[in-house]
Amino acid sequence: MKDIVIIGAGPAGLSAAIYAVRAGHTVTVLEEFAYGGQIINTPEVENYPAVSTISGFEFSQNLYDQATALGAEVLYEKAEAIQEDGNVKVVVTGAGKHRAKAVIIANGARHRKLGVPGEDAFSGKGVSYCATCDGAFYKGKDVCIVGGGNTALEDALFLANNCKTVYLIHRRDAFRASKVTVDSVLARENIQVVYDSVVDAILGDGTVTGIAVSNVKTGRRSELSISGVFIAVGLQPENERFAGLVALSDGGYIAAGEDCKTSQAGIFVAGDTRSKAVRQLVTAASDGAVAAIEASNYINQSFIE
Ligand SMILES: Cc1cc2nc3c(=O)[nH]c(=O)nc-3n(C[C@H](O)[C@H](O)[C@H](O)COP(=O)(O)OP(=O)(O)OC[C@H]3O[C@@H](n4cnc5c(N)ncnc54)[C@H](O)[C@@H]3O)c2cc1C
Repeated sequence: MKDIVIIGAGPAGLSAAIYAVRAGHTVTVLEEFAYGGQIINTPEVENYPAVSTISGFEFSQNLYDQATALGAEVLYEKAEAIQEDGNVKVVVTGAGKHRAKAVIIANGARHRKLGVPGEDAFSGKGVSYCATCDGAFYKGKDVCIVGGGNTALEDALFLANNCKTVYLIHRRDAFRASKVTVDSVLARENIQVVYDSVVDAILGDGTVTGIAVSNVKTGRRSELSISGVFIAVGLQPENERFAGLVALSDGGYIAAGEDCKTSQAGIFVAGDTRSKAVRQLVTAASDGAVAAIEASNYINQSFIE
């Protein structure tokens, strides 16, 4: 039996592994696909403190090398469920069962896609799901942001600081975002709201050159010339498989405060899958550290031999 099983080898899970092994615990990290998580295909990361520029791949590799060199074991298995056997946790995968004194769920989240032609082909070549991460690459250029919630509007304001014109494409005639954010957006001269409209296709030639848009009320079609398409139509956590054991918040995130403790003793949560306001590398790493230290405290208190 390992002390801690961590679900997910993204920035949160591998940061948790680093802190857990350095606290003297044995650790297994279970990863469904490839270590690194969402960041692995991003060409440039420029907002991680003390690292001015690094590719997503190199960032992932560094994290993996650091965690495994310290002694964490990484297995390529998908966690299907967590069960309990007394005060021991059992993580069930397609390959078997992993018993542990504590579990850290760090399974991240996926950005919802628009599902339109060109979206996958131009991903990382003008299509981005993270304005905070990629907005600076579009200084002085025309871009669009798709969505109508708080994230989309906050992203529009963020982009408007750097970009020439920001088209905000929203499928309704009113926003779901908070009034103060809506008012700020409407007051910005370089944000143009395109109401009642959906993106039909993302156009380009190697990189993005524009979008095809249609008005859902009139059916009128048009094209906008832009260099970047930012998509902010929501994140999708996949926590249904853990819902019987730990409480979820609205939107399906795992409910936990800054101490990363879930509703179930001995189960902790870290990174984008936790209910919180900011989802970035630095907050994922921070959660990983907190969850590992809390898991270590829990083990030291609950498994005195
Ligand atoms: C295109 C893009 C660019 C970005 N750029 C930046 C940036 O420049 N700066 C920045 O700070 N942030 C950036 N982000 C956000 C950042 O990548 C995330 O906040 C961060 O990766 C979250 O880390 P995480 O470990 O919580 O989750 P993830 O990175 O999502 O990792 C979760 C891991 O868990 C695995 N997993 C999921 N379910 C299971 C399961 N059941 N069993 C086993 N494994 C499982 C997944 O395969 C994945 O590897 C970007 C995001 C995207 C999509």
